[in-house]
Amino acid sequence: QKTIDQIAAGEVIERPSSVVKELVENSIDAGATAVTVEIRDGGTSFIRVTDNGSGIDRDQVAVAFLRHSTSKIRVVEDLFHVASLGFRGEALSSIASIAMVELITKTRDADAGVRYVIEGGAEKKLEDMAAPDGTTFLVRSLFYNTPARRKFLKSPMTEAGYISDLMERLALSRPDISFQFINNGQTKLHTSGNHNLKDVIYHIYGREIAANLAEIDAEQGPVRITGFIGKPAVSRGNRGFENYFINGRYIKSNVIARGIEEGYRTFMMQHKYPFTALHFTIDGGLLDVNVHPTKMELRFSNQEQLYRFVRETVHQGLMGREL
Ligand code: ADP
Ligand code: MG
Repeated sequence: QKTIDQIAAGEVIERPSSVVKELVENSIDAGATAVTVEIRDGGTSFIRVTDNGSGIDRDQVAVAFLRHSTSKIRVVEDLFHVASLGFRGEALSSIASIAMVELITKTRDADAGVRYVIEGGAEKKLEDMAAPDGTTFLVRSLFYNTPARRKFLKSPMTEAGYISDLMERLALSRPDISFQFINNGQTKLHTSGNHNLKDVIYHIYGREIAANLAEIDAEQGPVRITGFIGKPAVSRGNRGFENYFINGRYIKSNVIARGIEEGYRTFMMQHKYPFTALHFTIDGGLLDVNVHPTKMELRFSNQEQLYRFVRETVHQGLMGREL
């Protein structure tokens, strides 16, 4: 079982940012309104994720670390029908098999919290402990027992950069949640969770971009697009500033990217690529994803229609604005 978990871990956990992604998505699924992520040394020596979500019942703590253990949905096809980000029940078992993990959690109803320690997949401790409502995960010495994996890691600075990018995307995906990111003792990101996407954009990208946005709000059939697009004055040299989320999930889609870029083309000044932070709400029945755990690719049942709608929405959004 240990070896199987380690192999599975290779699929789910490629690097420290994968750990952060899985843990924060669990916090979001647990209904947290505030999530704090703290890392040291690019996350290789230390990752701590604290949330104020539902917590885990004492008798469910050990169970949560079993492979394919999920309290969420069971059918992959349901991925986009449900609100939860996790669905495979593989993350915790994977992480625990390749690191030293400590969990402190308390549900609202429980009198006391629980502390659970699991190292390399081996359970070390389960004890009562005073704790606030919510959950804290501590992940130390990532890949300590899988040296081959460790070799593929980049420098701590680069790994921390991946986590920082991830935190920014998460903050943009959920303006209703307060995210804090602390790297080597320094706060790098702290959003308010006041539901205001523009505030998050300002916080991450600064005044110049925030002052040059066109607001988008369009609906066509099963698709709604809301959010912001940067005016040509703040166009960019690459796709790195095109953020878009589908049903709260960060995703890459060539169809959407092309729609954005084509809709933008007429207005282009210097660069081909706009800044965007767009939220798509799409009926789950019309979506399909590549279910490889780390690659989330979108397939939409009517690609051409989606492409046109994105293109027109971006075009209209920028038309008649002061450019
Ligand atoms: P999945 O997210 O696919 O269900 P995970 O391995 O990520 O699988 O988590 C296993 C289970 O542990 C979850 O289904 C959930 O019940 C519980 N869990 C994990 N993290 C948290 C958290 N931060 N707060 C509450 N419950 C959690
Ligand atoms: Mg999960």
